[in-house]
Amino acid sequence: MWEAPTTTNGFRNRKTNGKPQHHTRRKVQIQLRQSTTGISEKRIALSWQSFFRSRSDLHNKLKLDVTAKLPIALIRNFVLFINDTNKMTNQTILVTGGTGFVGIHTILQLLQKGYHVNTTLRSLSKKDSILNALKEAGIDDFTALAFFEADLTSDTGWEEAVAGVDYVLHVASPFPAQDPRDENELIIPARDGALRVLKAAQKAGVKRVVLTSSFAAIGYSRNPKDHLFTEEDWTDATAAIPPYIKSKTVAEKAAWEYIETEGGNLELTVINPVGIFGPVLGGISSASLDIAVSGILNGVIRESPNFTMGVVDVRDVAAIHLTAMTHPEAGGERFIATSDGVMSFYDVAELFKKERPEWAEKIADMQPTPNEFYIEMTNHKAKTVLGWQPRSKEAALLASVDSLPRN
Ligand code: NAP
Repeated sequence: MWEAPTTTNGFRNRKTNGKPQHHTRRKVQIQLRQSTTGISEKRIALSWQSFFRSRSDLHNKLKLDVTAKLPIALIRNFVLFINDTNKMTNQTILVTGGTGFVGIHTILQLLQKGYHVNTTLRSLSKKDSILNALKEAGIDDFTALAFFEADLTSDTGWEEAVAGVDYVLHVASPFPAQDPRDENELIIPARDGALRVLKAAQKAGVKRVVLTSSFAAIGYSRNPKDHLFTEEDWTDATAAIPPYIKSKTVAEKAAWEYIETEGGNLELTVINPVGIFGPVLGGISSASLDIAVSGILNGVIRESPNFTMGVVDVRDVAAIHLTAMTHPEAGGERFIATSDGVMSFYDVAELFKKERPEWAEKIADMQPTPNEFYIEMTNHKAKTVLGWQPRSKEAALLASVDSLPRN
């Protein structure tokens, strides 16, 4: 929660001959409250010169993400720019799937930036797992966080969750470690859930929905040989593809169709992440991590298949959602979220052995995956349009390892 900055010693009201006496004051103290970030009170003394140097200088000093100006009106030639104080106080973001790996990191970053957050869970009984994870990350004030029960397969709860919300980050979608026998177990909640969220968002006057799709909706139909995967590519949802890949493709397609035909003023932006890794918070992991990190560390994976994957850190996935939410050029676009390069399971195993030798004991000695299976994809659009700068794939994977308890 923000409070308007105040100057010390009644500074605003002092005038000489009707003119502000700003030149006599060498110092001003700004008091900020940002209870949602755990920085309950920050007093920063800045010289006049610092104020006038630049807005970004002020921004850096206060360590705040700000976009609008707050004038201290009575002082001539002196305008204190604090990035979007009002916006930070008032904006509410709905994050669906707060119990998930991406969901929890996204909530954390939103709270750290001073947003109010609504989040949906299938059952409110899972609320404590979210609170514990956020506490682990240093959040100790939860007044800006509200919980709503809603399932992707039911209409109940969505209207309440989206009421008064400015933006929606639709992250929730079933992502099991093992494919179900019936693909509809994934497709129906993914597709119908996305449509439910879009409809509720539109009805509530939300500005933009950011949908977490996947590289699964991009890279599984074309022959990867001699092809650079971009946002122009689509997986063919009518082909014989695994249920999860199909669910993400069908859901994203349905979302774009809805926006084109019935979306009205509602904007859609889609993020297409590759394999998401990075730190586990409060024990909230995901299938990607359980398979490709824990599976390799524990020696469950013993061979490197003819397959390579893009890698991205969950913190960078959360960050790209936040940027895509408000970036003026993000509406109507999809963005591949990946670090540079791809890796095979052999590469991951060798990285872990070299960089974290204390884990090496159980890691299998694998044969390298042949070069012809190294696919190519680009993060150029996310970097250039959104200014997104992801960590390296190695940093993402090692952060996962470092966040896991050792047996
Ligand atoms: P996750 O930890 O399994 O999170 C999935 C979230 O979706 C959970 O909060 C889960 O709730 C929720 N969910 C599943 N079925 C639901 C339903 N019927 N109704 C309401 N909520 C439901 O996986 P994640 O890695 O964070 O995935 C988040 C998003 O990223 C998903 O859209 C996924 O497809 C996408 N993605 C993930 C990766 C990756 O490598 N992890 C890569 C690309 C894209 P419960 O806790 O109740 O199960």
